[in-house]
Amino acid sequence: MKRSVLLIYTGGTIGMQTDPHSGALVPFDFRHIYEEFPSLRRLGVEIDVLPFDPIDSSNASPELWVRLAEIIKENYTRFDGFVVLHGTDTMSYTSSALSFMLNNLNKPVVFTGSQIPIGVLRTDGRENLITAIEIAAAKDPKGRAEVPEVALYFQNRLFRANRTTKQSAEELSAFVSNNYPPLAEVGVNIQYNRSLILRPKREADLEIDTKLCEDVAIIKIFPGLNERVFRAMLNSGVKGVVLETYGAGNAPTKEWFIGALREAIQRGVTVINVTQCSDGEVNMDIYETGVALQQIGVISGRDMTTEAATAKMMYVLAHEQSPKRIASLLKKSICGEIGK
Ligand code: ASP
Repeated sequence: MKRSVLLIYTGGTIGMQTDPHSGALVPFDFRHIYEEFPSLRRLGVEIDVLPFDPIDSSNASPELWVRLAEIIKENYTRFDGFVVLHGTDTMSYTSSALSFMLNNLNKPVVFTGSQIPIGVLRTDGRENLITAIEIAAAKDPKGRAEVPEVALYFQNRLFRANRTTKQSAEELSAFVSNNYPPLAEVGVNIQYNRSLILRPKREADLEIDTKLCEDVAIIKIFPGLNERVFRAMLNSGVKGVVLETYGAGNAPTKEWFIGALREAIQRGVTVINVTQCSDGEVNMDIYETGVALQQIGVISGRDMTTEAATAKMMYVLAHEQSPKRIASLLKKSICGEIGK
C-alpha cells in the first residue's frame, strides 16, 4: 500500500514565491504542490495538504502548538507520518513543545522550512520539503517508522527537534543541535543513526497533552543587569524562569541577586539554569558562582537548549504542583531533551 504523509503548512519563508509579473513575494499555494513539483510523484508517497492561514513564525504562540497537536491526533491513524512547514525563527520552540505534548508517538513528525522562499530559483525549500516527506514516510527493515520522534530536518541533517536552535539568519544551514548528534544525515542516501533514535517505550495510542502554563519567562543575565529590573521580572507573577547564565551555569554571587532569586524560589517560582553558550552544559558544582545557585534551589537544566527548557517548563508547571515533583520532572528526560 502506498505510504501517506500529511503536510501541514503554517507559514514562514518557505511558503512564498516570486510573482512573475510584479517581482514581489506572494504566498505559494501548497495545495498545488504536485503541479509545482511533478517529480514529487516519484517518491511514491500520497501527500495530503492542510494549509493554515499562513503566519510569520514570530507570531507563533502556544495556541498554534495546541492546534498542531490536535490536528496530528485527529489524523494520526490515517497517515504514516506528518510534515510541518513552519517559519524558521521559532521552529525550535514549536517543535520542542510538540515533543512534550505528543505522548506515545510512534510516527514521524518532521518540521522543516527554508531560508529562501520555495518559489525562488535558488531555494533551499525544495530539498528540505522533499526529504522531510521522504523521512516522514520512511520505514525501517522491520516495517516500523524510521523516526518515531518530533524531528527537524534542515540542510541535509535530521535532528531531534528539542535539541535544536536556529543559529544563522543567513546560512542555509540554519539549525544546529550541538549537544546531540543528528538522527540522520542526507547525502546520496539517507543514513539513519538508528542507535540515536528514540523508540516508544510501549505500544499505545497517541495521546496529546495540551495543558501548558504560560506564566514563564526567559531571563538572560548580563553584566549590568540591575536589582530593580531583575526583581521586577521575578515579581511579575511569573511561575517559572529559564535563567540563561554564563558558561557552565555561572551567575553573579552578589547578595541582591542571590537574595532576589532565593525569595522568588521560596514564593514557589521554579528556576532552571541553562547556559548562554551554544554547546556544553550547566554544571553547578564547579564554581562558587554555580554552587550559590544550587544552594538556593535553582535546578540544573544541564545540556538543554533554552527552547526545550522553556517548553518543558510550560508543560511541567501545567501538570505538577509539588516543587519536588516539578524539579524531578525537569531534571529527567521526558523525550530525549536532556542528557546524553
Ligand atoms: N520570519 C520567518 C518566519 O519565521 C523566517 C523564516 O521562515 O525563515 O516565519
